[in-house]
Amino acid sequence: MIDDLEELPQKAREKHTENKKFFAKLKKRVPKDLDYVMQQLHVEEFERTDCLTCANCCKTTGPLFTNTDIERIAKHFRMRPSQFIDQYLRVDEENDYVLQEVPCAFLGADNYCSIYDVRPKACREFPHTDRKKFQQISNLTLKNVAICPAAFNIVEEMKRRIKL
Ligand code: SF4
Ligand code: SF4
Repeated sequence: MIDDLEELPQKAREKHTENKKFFAKLKKRVPKDLDYVMQQLHVEEFERTDCLTCANCCKTTGPLFTNTDIERIAKHFRMRPSQFIDQYLRVDEENDYVLQEVPCAFLGADNYCSIYDVRPKACREFPHTDRKKFQQISNLTLKNVAICPAAFNIVEEMKRRIKL
């Protein structure tokens, strides 16, 4: 269990090799009920986790913005998509639109998202732990456990419950 966010990167580093091995085995031997187990683990963890006391994803990384995200959010601000891009986004090494800076400009001091209803798809889906075929996003998950305490706990519980 992670209680202190400051500890998380170090804890994730300590678990990295073990997690990498676990996901390598998981890909080779995918349990038939993996989608079901992940759904259960995700729901259980988010019943205990209050994202409003955390917001670490919004503070430290931020999402990718798809063109659909950009059009929707720009429309919300009554801006042209190009204006929105100039004001808030940059293109990263992988040619994706990302935030110019973190914490995210749309995160309030109370940890509420000021564009919650129109937020990017990646924000809605983060940390992707209820995704079907979870074994396919193991590289992303290996990174996310260092950012998201809920993802960290879910992976720890996965290793306890899924014997490979
Ligand atoms: S999704 Fe994870 S990192 Fe983001 S606020 Fe919730 S617990 Fe924190
Ligand atoms: S858009 Fe909202 S949910 Fe997404 S990173 Fe910014 S504050 Fe967080």
